[in-house]
Amino acid sequence: MDRMSHSPHRRWNPLRQSWVLVSPHRTQRPWQGAVDAKTAPSGVSYDPQCYLCPGNQRAGGIANPAYDGVFWFVNDYAALLPDAAPPAQPSGSPLLKTEPARGLCRVLCYHPDHSLTLARMTRPEIRPVVDAWVAQYQDLAATGWIKYVQIFENRGAMMGASNPHPHGQIWSTDFVPDEPAAETRAQREHLALTGHCLLCEYLAAEEAAGSGDGGRIVFENKHFTALVPWWAIWPFEVLLLSRRHLGAMPELTPAERDSLADALHRITVRFDNLFDTSFPYTMGFHQTPTDNATHPEWHFHAHFYPPLLRSATVRKFMVGFEMLGMPQRDITPEDAARRLREASEVHYWGRE
Ligand SMILES: [Zn+2]
Ligand SMILES: [Zn+2]
Ligand SMILES: [Zn+2]
Repeated sequence: MDRMSHSPHRRWNPLRQSWVLVSPHRTQRPWQGAVDAKTAPSGVSYDPQCYLCPGNQRAGGIANPAYDGVFWFVNDYAALLPDAAPPAQPSGSPLLKTEPARGLCRVLCYHPDHSLTLARMTRPEIRPVVDAWVAQYQDLAATGWIKYVQIFENRGAMMGASNPHPHGQIWSTDFVPDEPAAETRAQREHLALTGHCLLCEYLAAEEAAGSGDGGRIVFENKHFTALVPWWAIWPFEVLLLSRRHLGAMPELTPAERDSLADALHRITVRFDNLFDTSFPYTMGFHQTPTDNATHPEWHFHAHFYPPLLRSATVRKFMVGFEMLGMPQRDITPEDAARRLREASEVHYWGRE
């Protein structure tokens, strides 16, 4: 047993340029495994009350078409608007700073079947979702004033998802939001300093460490590697990296789009199998800003931030020291990666 898996230490996140505190000695009691009953996925493939199901009415009386594949619409309660008026500049202190914020919020239904999730959709069913994300990115990038396209999914009530219907969101903005802005800065600085892409170099380091004991790689397919990053904050956080250096989804070849669908399916099935539950998470893609600048530094990736820690009901809270000091975790990323490697890729509940 090495020191790193027993002693408190800090780890550097070069992508976010921040630290995380790791306290592995807090979990030296043996892993008990989940004892909860298996949670059944939603059983109904059509819910008359669901505003995302085909044919149903949404807010304002708009009816969804009887869609049979993917389907998108403008969010009826959008957080951003395309024609927001610039805010009035408050007089007085320069500390009371404001900027205009314009944007578009769209909702993308992955599948007409209300009961499905990425974990329970097949790879050929996920591929059109990937194609829809590519088309959305291209469409929004072409508007000219959109500078960033944030594609994401909140899964499960624990993460604030108001509806179990398989769907995600696409918020695009006339500014680069803080997280991708921080990653742009870090990747640009690393490229300028070393001449290398930060995430290509990081991936090479993880590949050198391997997927054996102590490694952080969960699995890889031909074009993607899924790993628990060195700097993970959430217990079973996963970083999905394209193995080839590319900046944004439109650069994916058809074979890479298939590989992305495969990787998304395998991550979410392993998540569900960890505690025999429909695993909650926030996931999203980080890619090249659409600000018309060139971004050789950007390396396309996805983050999965799941809150569960010990079972289907025990979650991690970001409170206390984490709100006031810095993020902290108990189980090591290496331990989390091992548990995810050991999880089956056959869904515990199956499909039919
Ligand atoms: Zn539905
Ligand atoms: Zn790269
Ligand atoms: Zn990122």
